[in-house]
Amino acid sequence: MHILKPTLAVLFLLFGAQVASADECQIAIEGNDAMAFNTKEMSVPASCKEVTITLNHTGGLPANVMGHNWVLSQSDDFMPIANAGAKAGFDNNYLPPDDARIIAATKIVGGGESDSVTLSLEGLAADQEYTFFCSFPGHWSMMKGSFTIK
Ligand code: ZN
Repeated sequence: MHILKPTLAVLFLLFGAQVASADECQIAIEGNDAMAFNTKEMSVPASCKEVTITLNHTGGLPANVMGHNWVLSQSDDFMPIANAGAKAGFDNNYLPPDDARIIAATKIVGGGESDSVTLSLEGLAADQEYTFFCSFPGHWSMMKGSFTIK
């Protein structure tokens, strides 16, 4: 048994090094009254089973005037989703309902509000660039960025 113990300790260290801490799998992003996110690039460790994105609207304008959401899709899909979302309207969070192209999305929030979404990284490819954006009409031109799993 005195040989087994150090072996287990080594295994634990090796395993532990490959598991991301819970904090790394929680990401916050801000949207403001100037129609901007506070980042254009987001990345999450591939070791996260799932990640939770929290969108904080740091402005003061109401959701129907300067609402923001955080939507994730394949980069090729984001424009078609944004266009369909504009037609879907505020009541649908400016997103086409039940659209399989939407990987994850928060609801539309106004100033001072927050919303979170948790998504599984299963089925998403590492080192591929996904696009995150706000689907409020007209916002995606400024409010978009890249999302990568590293
Ligand atoms: Zn927005």
